[in-house]
Amino acid sequence: MRRFTGDRLVIASHNSGKLREIAELLAPFGVETASAGDLGLAEPAETEDTFAGNARIKAHFAARETGLPALSDDSGIMVDALDGAPGVYTADWAETPNGRDFPMAMKKVWDLLEAKDAPEPRTARFCCALCLAWPDGHDELFQGKVEGRLVWPMRGDLGFGFDPIFLPEGETETFGEMDPARKHAMSHRADAFAKMIAGCFA
Ligand code: IMP
Repeated sequence: MRRFTGDRLVIASHNSGKLREIAELLAPFGVETASAGDLGLAEPAETEDTFAGNARIKAHFAARETGLPALSDDSGIMVDALDGAPGVYTADWAETPNGRDFPMAMKKVWDLLEAKDAPEPRTARFCCALCLAWPDGHDELFQGKVEGRLVWPMRGDLGFGFDPIFLPEGETETFGEMDPARKHAMSHRADAFAKMIAGCFA
């Protein structure tokens, strides 16, 4: 496995929620980060049907364009009673002509579960693939997940995306209600991060 020895890393994401969480998770390592948006990078099309495949597209694109190592995150929520949907299309389910609307997307998921009278608990998991890519084309990939169930109505306004309806296993607060530090200790992103830190930063 290749270690990260540089001092600058491009975060290949335009998602402000992810950027904030990744910066917080990387803070202890003294790495200077710049986001894809700061560097004026375009967003490549996410044409793969796996989190790993799309993470690779984003990280390699940013590394090639900037000549710097780049870290991408592809993530989403998989709902068992919906055969794993929305999965890699999680962000797409929130698209509207006026931008992303996550309350609308969460309601769409809940309404589908109601329509098929899905049994409780309505189990789901957040999944995350992190890809660290270098300008020479090498990459390292790490995956993480967190199990839980969906609740309705939405609870909490912390976090981002689908956090307000996700209750992690064994917890009483949704990710939307939870102190961010607590979410960072158990999330799918934290799980993948721990593997990346052990493999490339330790
Ligand atoms: P993408 O990886 O940019 O295609 O988008 C993933 C989508 O999954 C995000 O826009 C969020 O809606 C959702 N998602 C990923 N991670 C989280 C999380 O930690 N909390 C809530 N939603 C998330």
